[in-house]
Amino acid sequence: MNVAWRWILIAFIACHNKVHGYQQFYMESSETYLTYISGTLPLIIGAPHGGTLKPADIPDRRHNGSSFVRDMYTAEIASSVAGIVANHYQQRPHLIMCNVHRSKVDPNRAVDVGADSDSGRDIWKQYHDYIKSSIVTVTEAHTYGLLVDIHGQTHSHEKVELGYLLEQPDLALPENSLNHAIRTRSSIQSLVSRYPYISPVEFVAGKKSFGMFLSSFASDVNVMPSPAFSTVGYNESFYSGGYVTETYYAKANQPGVDVIQIEIPKHLRLVTENRDKFTFTLAQAIIHMLDHHYVNRLKL
Ligand SMILES: [Zn+2]
Repeated sequence: MNVAWRWILIAFIACHNKVHGYQQFYMESSETYLTYISGTLPLIIGAPHGGTLKPADIPDRRHNGSSFVRDMYTAEIASSVAGIVANHYQQRPHLIMCNVHRSKVDPNRAVDVGADSDSGRDIWKQYHDYIKSSIVTVTEAHTYGLLVDIHGQTHSHEKVELGYLLEQPDLALPENSLNHAIRTRSSIQSLVSRYPYISPVEFVAGKKSFGMFLSSFASDVNVMPSPAFSTVGYNESFYSGGYVTETYYAKANQPGVDVIQIEIPKHLRLVTENRDKFTFTLAQAIIHMLDHHYVNRLKL
């Protein structure tokens, strides 16, 4: 049994007294095209690009300019993080994973780019239905929640990239202008609107940021944005957030979920020892984030 499924099993055992739906989405074949584990925590974990299945009855995507490369080990990282978080709180987060290879369907693109066939569109739609129903559940129970969308990249700077819909020029703005961008255009604008007396940049690159939590649990992991790397270098590639991030973040002063796209560099995914260590670090940072900004223990 690999590490990921061992954690899932631990999560199920730990939460046996709070049983919630475990759904898998089947098509014509017997293989599972999507995994959805519903939860009770104000946390949704998504992994849209970790799938390996290449069913012959789903035509390959051909959209010009699209990436068809799988984000290796992101499904394993997402499911392991879900297990660690469930073990910590004795309650589960929502976990949504696309098990079909990105060459067939891409849930982190608009549907007309992410799927080229009816069967591909069915999977795309079901993935997003799971996200939408998870957001409804989180909002009804907790008012606010966090959606982390887990990805992998191969950029040469080897930093973890956190996407808040802020581009490289945004992060280089003077503080007042950057704060305005965070309040009005970022995917955590609901979060910062709940703390009107705290400078919004604190939540992106300061002491209250996910980048701070992530780097504080592992000094050898570089994260941008974070206090150590508050801006993105002009020659550095950077993903600021894709379709999932753009689609599901709550607006300022509104209930719903904040969204962070997490892009994990190659060396933290492909080397087993690094991956196991980073998975634990990521889970601890998410727990810290939940404790600081989302979890009301009276409701757990
Ligand atoms: Zn990706």
